[in-house]
Amino acid sequence: MARPSDLAGRTAPCVLLAGDIGPAGVDALDTGIVLAVATAAGAPLSHAAILARSIGLPLVTGLGAALLDVPPGALVLVDGDAGTVEVEPAAAAVNVAAARQETSRRRLEQARGAAMSPAVTLDGHTVTVLVNTASPEEAAAAVAQGADGVGMLRTEFAFLGRSEAPGEAEQYEAYRGVADAIGDRPLVIRTLDLGADIPAWGGGWEPNPALGNRGIRFTLANRPLLEVQLRAIARLAGERPLQVMFPMVTTVDEVRDARACLDAIDPAGRLEVGITVEVPAAAVCADALAPLVDFFAIGTNDLTQYTLAADRANSAVAALADGMHPAVLRLIRQVTAAGERHGRPVEVVGELGCDPLALPLLLGLGVSTLSVRPNAVAAVKQAVRLVRLGDARLLADAALDAESAAAVRRLCVAAAAAGPGAREAARGVL
Ligand code: PEP
Ligand code: MG
Repeated sequence: MARPSDLAGRTAPCVLLAGDIGPAGVDALDTGIVLAVATAAGAPLSHAAILARSIGLPLVTGLGAALLDVPPGALVLVDGDAGTVEVEPAAAAVNVAAARQETSRRRLEQARGAAMSPAVTLDGHTVTVLVNTASPEEAAAAVAQGADGVGMLRTEFAFLGRSEAPGEAEQYEAYRGVADAIGDRPLVIRTLDLGADIPAWGGGWEPNPALGNRGIRFTLANRPLLEVQLRAIARLAGERPLQVMFPMVTTVDEVRDARACLDAIDPAGRLEVGITVEVPAAAVCADALAPLVDFFAIGTNDLTQYTLAADRANSAVAALADGMHPAVLRLIRQVTAAGERHGRPVEVVGELGCDPLALPLLLGLGVSTLSVRPNAVAAVKQAVRLVRLGDARLLADAALDAESAAAVRRLCVAAAAAGPGAREAARGVL
C-alpha cells in the first residue's frame, strides 16, 4: 500500500490509503499505478466514490482513523463491492477473493454478451438504459457495451481541478466529442452542478455547502457562467437532437429563470428541457414543475441525502443514506405519478439505478428509463430482463408501505429469490 505522498514518480502498482479523497483527487490518479483506494473518511454516495466506481476503481470509504496506522508496504486486500479492507490477509482469504473476482468477471462477460440487445422485461416492456458519463472515451466504451445513449453528461467533472471556467468554444468541443462518440443516440447534458463536495469557481466558503449555493442555484447566481454553457449546448443543438437538464431544482421560479436564460440563447426552442429531481420539495411539487419541463430525472443520490438528512459524503451517517428507505421511494412515486398525469417521462440517474436489487422496485414505481454508470450498463440490462412489470408494481406497493429501508431490502431479496410473481412470498418475510 502507499500514501498520497508516495505516489509521485511511483511505477509499482499499489493500494492508496488516505485520510479522504475528493473527486479531483480520484480524477488525478493514475489507475495503472493505483489499483484501489481506501479512505478513513468519506461515504459511498460522495462524488469521489461515484467517480471511482464509474472508472472501475475500487474505493472503500469511511474506515476510520485507524486506517492511517497501517504501516507502509503492508499487504492489503480491498473488496470494493463489500466495502471492506483486510490488512495482511491470510492466503486463504486472498484465494477466496480471487475466486469471487473471477466469478463476477464471468458474470459481467455473460451480461456483456447480451448487452447490445434491448432490455425488455418478461412481460414485454422495453426499458431504456442510458449511461452517466463525463467524457467521450467513457461514452464510446459505454455504447460499445450496450448503452442506449447518454442520460447524464456530468459537465463539471471534465473541468475538475481548474481554477477558471472553460470558455464556450472549449465546452462546445467537449460536448461535441461526446456526441461524436455516441452517434445519433440520445444525449442529455446536465448544466454545471458545482458546489457541495465539488468546489465551485468563485463559490466562496459556505457553512453548510450541501445545503448552500450548488447546482442551478449557483449557476443562476453566476449568470455569465450559465450563459456560456447554454450557448455551447445550443450550438450543438443546431447539429443534432439534444436535451439539457438543470440540476438541484427546488422551485418553479428557478426553472422559469433558467428557461428564460435558455430561450434568449435558443429562441427556436431546439432543446428539450429536463430537471433533476433531487430536492424533496421538487418531488413533492412535481405537478407544478411538470408543465415547465419535458422530462424528469430523479437524482437518487441527493434525494436520499436530503430526504434522510444524511450528508452523502459523511461516513458517520452513511448507513442512514439508503435510497431504499420508504420515504425516498414515496417521493419517487410522487414524481412518477406527476409524470404520468402530465405525460412527462421519468428516469433515474442516481446510483440506486445501478443496484440490481432496487431495479424491480424502480420499474414498479413507474420509472421508464435508467441512466447508470458505464460498467453497470450490461448488468442492469440483464436485470431488466428478469423483471415482470406486473409483479414489480406489486413489489413497489408493498415497499411503499414498509417501515424501513431494511424492510424494503428484505422484500426485494425475497422477490429476487422467488423470481417473478413473488410478491406474496416477499410480504411473508416482513
Ligand atoms: C444524484 O444526485 O443522484 C445525481 C445523479 O447527481 P450527482 O450524484 O452528480 O449529485
Ligand atoms: Mg445530484
